[in-house]
Amino acid sequence: MTSIKTENLSFQYPGGKALNFPDLQIGENESWLLTGNSGSGKTTLLHLIAGILIPTNGALTIAGKLVNALKPTELDAFRAQHIGMVFQKSYFIDALSMHKNLLYFAELSGNKADREFMNKLLTNLGIAQLSHKKPATLSSGELQRFSIARAMINKPGIILADEPTSSLDDDNCKRFTELIIGICNSYNVTLIVATHDARLKKEFVNTIQLN
Ligand code: ADP
Ligand code: MG
Repeated sequence: MTSIKTENLSFQYPGGKALNFPDLQIGENESWLLTGNSGSGKTTLLHLIAGILIPTNGALTIAGKLVNALKPTELDAFRAQHIGMVFQKSYFIDALSMHKNLLYFAELSGNKADREFMNKLLTNLGIAQLSHKKPATLSSGELQRFSIARAMINKPGIILADEPTSSLDDDNCKRFTELIIGICNSYNVTLIVATHDARLKKEFVNTIQLN
């Protein structure tokens, strides 16, 4: 349930050319597709919104708070409170069951895991019956559904997903995309999915195009 606003945001890697981003005005509980060719700056923009990178210029406001004015320790706390992330590849510990992986991840951020919330979430994602299994025994589609659970576990207001469907076949791509949009909708989470995957275009009403 978190809004995102950017103004004149730009970022320059050392020795690189400046990346200038369009102004965003993303309302609470909206789902957006962030698209553009490889190298257009999609990952950079997600990392700016997540507070992993600090903009060279411009303003980023999340939930009414000017994020680029925060100190590094405040930024870490802000990210832990507001942002969940999904990546192309899922990152789970091989030796632990999915259930234990999720508990471990929740505790890493200093939160006490809300088990009731987690069990309900796994049911809503259709993966509760897989939660005793270890990562190596699951398909990439199943693992990506657990990645949504991982991103949601600390109850963020925003989920940022970076090329989450690149390793999925058409059926799993569609299923994953419908699921992440549906879950974010029902949990009042603002969603941005960055991808060059043209299969996702028809699933989103709102699009940010980078050139
Ligand atoms: P996308 O996710 O759309 O493929 P990126 O945000 O990864 O785009 O990259 C945008 C531009 O910044 C590209 O030209 C890329 O080469 C450059 N870039 C990305 N990461 C770094 C980095 N760590 N150091 C220097 N240049 C980078
Ligand atoms: Mg990228």
